[in-house]
Amino acid sequence: MAEIDILVSEVGPRDGLQSIDSIMSTDDKKKWIKAESEAGVREIEVGSFVRPDLLPQMADTAEIVQYAKSLPNLTVAALVPNFKGAKNAIDAGVDKMCLPLSVSETHSKANLNKSHEEVLAEIKKIAEYIKSLDEEKRPEFEGNLSTAFGCTLEGKVSEKVVVSLGAQMMELGCDEVGLSDTTGYANPMQIRRLIGLLKSEVGDHNLTSMHLHNTRGLGLANALASIEEGITTLDSSLGGIGGCPFAPGASGNIVTEDLVFMLDSMGLKTGINIEALIEVNKTVKTFLPNEELYGFTIDSGLPKGYSKGGWGTN
Ligand code: ZN
Repeated sequence: MAEIDILVSEVGPRDGLQSIDSIMSTDDKKKWIKAESEAGVREIEVGSFVRPDLLPQMADTAEIVQYAKSLPNLTVAALVPNFKGAKNAIDAGVDKMCLPLSVSETHSKANLNKSHEEVLAEIKKIAEYIKSLDEEKRPEFEGNLSTAFGCTLEGKVSEKVVVSLGAQMMELGCDEVGLSDTTGYANPMQIRRLIGLLKSEVGDHNLTSMHLHNTRGLGLANALASIEEGITTLDSSLGGIGGCPFAPGASGNIVTEDLVFMLDSMGLKTGINIEALIEVNKTVKTFLPNEELYGFTIDSGLPKGYSKGGWGTN
């Protein structure tokens, strides 16, 4: 991983697709993931191991994981809501699983139908199961603190609770914790403060990823604040597809193309070819004729004379 500075983790096939009404065909999902991987994206959250009657958009996740595993240089990630989902994800062969724990307990009940205690019990069970597997079969297991910056149902959330839940997830056996601004409430100062607080509790190397939404237009400002606090993995969604169906009013993720443009133009290495990424957007648009895709870079194009890896440095 030394050849890149920031890992851009594409979450559109999961966070994006789960929140829209259109159901993308399995074939189109495969084409999307392949194209984005060929553009240089190294980690993709390809789906969610949830009950298909709850999220029919995710019903083919096991097949998508198996397909994505055949692509070179790609970390195949999936979301798991509970032990059963985690087991299915491991059977399908994921490299990485992410389990969300809503800091807002009201949201946790709406999203996973579980209290904090119940989610933590699932995490414990999953971590113990992973330990029982042969080492080469063990996926990376991230506990994700969602609604960490505020909740559409509860409003303010307590930073103390964020930190305490993060510490508990590490104790129970997560490999790392991540922070999610599920609702797009965060601002850069808050991002800096909460990263610092959580890092001082769990250690620098156990908090490396941030999941941001652009609900109030602060997504890239928050991404930059995260990087300045040492975050090295940023989630984003191609064309900004997405949101969270269980957090009303929370609109899409930060836009992959805009994030990559920001990082690339600052001279930070992502391994992603921005021109190729823009082509992927055009392709995916044809797979979702009834959905709107977003993004400034797509709308405006790259600056005249743009050359990869630094801008304005002469
Ligand atoms: Zn999200």
